[in-house]
Amino acid sequence: IVKYRKISKSFGDNEVLKEIDFDLYPGERVAIIGPSGSGKTTMARLLMTLETPTAGTIEVDGRHLWHKEVNGKLVPADEKHLHEVRGDIGMVFQHFNLFPHMTIMRNLTEAPVKVLGLPKKEAEERAKEMLEKVGMSEKAKDYPASLSGGQQQRVAIARALVMRPKVMLFDEPTSALDPETVGEVLNVIKDIAKQGDMSMMLITHEMSFAREVADRVCFFDEGKIQEQGPPSEIFTNPETERLREFLKGFN
Ligand code: ATP
Repeated sequence: IVKYRKISKSFGDNEVLKEIDFDLYPGERVAIIGPSGSGKTTMARLLMTLETPTAGTIEVDGRHLWHKEVNGKLVPADEKHLHEVRGDIGMVFQHFNLFPHMTIMRNLTEAPVKVLGLPKKEAEERAKEMLEKVGMSEKAKDYPASLSGGQQQRVAIARALVMRPKVMLFDEPTSALDPETVGEVLNVIKDIAKQGDMSMMLITHEMSFAREVADRVCFFDEGKIQEQGPPSEIFTNPETERLREFLKGFN
């Protein structure tokens, strides 16, 4: 459902991604692990069209972002695709970015009403269903500031799900949380992974979580996918010295 082809991204002289080829198949859960600064967040931001690649193409469900390759040449893709593609991706960031002046319910209904044009009632139905899914139904009338970090992140997950995206993208969803609330957020994500057939990209530093949830693990280092495979192989039998060293830090 997602295809990166020869994606490179530089910030000035800093080449953060180097000719990355990456596929996410429908219904697949891929965990992306790797040291700080290895380009994981940049991978995610490109998919959300928050960054533009220096070279290469990205396709989501058959639609090209920015440009496509025709007879070996890059030509601009249709601008209107960008907007559509954003709607296909639900993103959950490290910082939850809820709208502070809106109730939890409004936080969830805002985009379905404004972006999808759903009637308010229908948006509220969807919102209720999602709040239930993340165990936050009782807080629908509250404001974000009255919730713990973990609760806010669960709401942020519900807010992304309410748009019924084809792909959910999680960028270190627990790294800004107090240790005691990390578990509740990981459990919500595990539940979503178990319930549906949603495609997921999970950037995480939580190795046991990656092991449990992912069908495939990609190890990023120095702007490249250095190694990838099923969690049983990646975690128990890493091939490269780099990955062995990286995993040692989590034992
Ligand atoms: P972390 O695990 O710490 O989030 P990461 O693997 O997600 O790290 P990125 O956030 O993708 O890594 O960053 C990769 C590199 O790109 C870093 O060296 C960072 O300084 C640089 N970088 C990212 N965004 C920008 C930007 N907007 N301008 C300049 N440099 C950037």
